[in-house]
Amino acid sequence: MFAFLERVFHHLFAIQTEVQSLKTLLKTLLCPLLSLSFSPFPHLVMLFLCISLFLSGSFTSFFLAASILPARPHELRSDFPATWFHPDNHPILTLFRRHTRNGTNISTDGNGYPPVGSSAWINAYPKASGLGPVNPETMPKVWKDFLETAVKEGKVPNVPQTTLVNGSPTYPNGTDPNSSQVCSAIPKICKIKGDYWDAPIGHVALAFDDGPGLGSAKLYKFLQTKNLKATHFFIGKNILTYPQLFLTAFDILHDDIGVHTYTHPSLSSLSNEQIFAELAFTMQIIHDSTGGRVPRIFRPPFGDTDMRVHSIAKILGLTTIIWNQDTEDWHLASGGMTQAQISSKMRTWLGGPKSPGLVMLEHELSNETAQVFINNYPLIPGSDWDTVSAAQMDGLDTPYQNAKGTTGAVKPAAIVPNENNATSTSTTSPARLSQSTMSWARSSSKSTTRPSKSNKVNGVCRTSALGILGMVAVMTSVVVWLF
Ligand SMILES: [Zn+2]
Repeated sequence: MFAFLERVFHHLFAIQTEVQSLKTLLKTLLCPLLSLSFSPFPHLVMLFLCISLFLSGSFTSFFLAASILPARPHELRSDFPATWFHPDNHPILTLFRRHTRNGTNISTDGNGYPPVGSSAWINAYPKASGLGPVNPETMPKVWKDFLETAVKEGKVPNVPQTTLVNGSPTYPNGTDPNSSQVCSAIPKICKIKGDYWDAPIGHVALAFDDGPGLGSAKLYKFLQTKNLKATHFFIGKNILTYPQLFLTAFDILHDDIGVHTYTHPSLSSLSNEQIFAELAFTMQIIHDSTGGRVPRIFRPPFGDTDMRVHSIAKILGLTTIIWNQDTEDWHLASGGMTQAQISSKMRTWLGGPKSPGLVMLEHELSNETAQVFINNYPLIPGSDWDTVSAAQMDGLDTPYQNAKGTTGAVKPAAIVPNENNATSTSTTSPARLSQSTMSWARSSSKSTTRPSKSNKVNGVCRTSALGILGMVAVMTSVVVWLF
């Protein structure tokens, strides 16, 4: 027994001796200056020199390794959120607000806007109670002049207006709706270049039309519970009627707000001036109620667009989004469609091929239309589809022409050059504004306030930083161990 213990102690002593020898060797090899004698602080000077030596060695070895090892893909999937700023309700923002609050309204562009729902706000737009399209005579003169100039410059093609025959837009005899000059979207044969019909492969684009309305509260509660981001193609006069629902969609859900006209007419049946008024007044109320954000996306009611409607939307900087499947949920109220029939259609689409991605026409018109989406939503994750909002389909991830994402800072803008807004972009045409902001948006990083399960981050940069920190830590430990 004693002999065994003696052997153990002997080995331990031998190891200690070897460790001491190793220390001495390392000191001699790595810090030869240690054998010299400096005064008045030789040890501190030695320590400083050795740390410098190790640090420079570690950086050199890291960069050597980086140049020798194969390059890793620049973008890696991770579970990190896409942005790092706090949500609006974070307590720190009461100290350092990004937003200047004006009543219940949010402004980040430095301009003041009447609080949403106030009498000043209500009186600023065409009345909600009137029947028929907005009267274009009520447009500001600068809007009229802007449209007139665009027509003179040939930016709006001379496509004949339709007349409504039993509610269906009908072109005059001799006009082919499927010709490239007309390219009506209703027969779904001709598709205008630049308009969106399909979602990215494997994705369902979430969009709801005709709100804010009677189904909105139920729908918003569900979207919030499931943490889903959607686009709302709002009707201007419905915003005027349901200001609180508008604020819930924009200010609480941070959902995208798109244009669905002011009174929901068949646009191809209107004059150029009427189309312009329907779009511009809706853009104006959204702009003034979102702290100055100029909408970027537009869905024509009934999908009724053609080259003329498309062009007028385009000069206002609007991108048109149609759909590739129609739930016909708007038929629920009349009994023309049942919940079971719509569920059956959705099961077929969601169980079918993933290419192209799905853009289903859905509405927030009533509790029934909201419920049909809620009932069938489990099929989306259940069939392994991802969701995006309609405004995210083109990869720009911003529903606005002059703001980064839904909550980013806002650049001052006017819907069109406006004498009432001379301090902002009175010399900037919407087309120019659109072009410049689009290129800016492409170069900016994706922005959303909600964590995404597949956001891309700069993997190599993060790996590099961790690598350097790790090496410095190891080298520092060696130096401490030596001394
Ligand atoms: Zn609609």
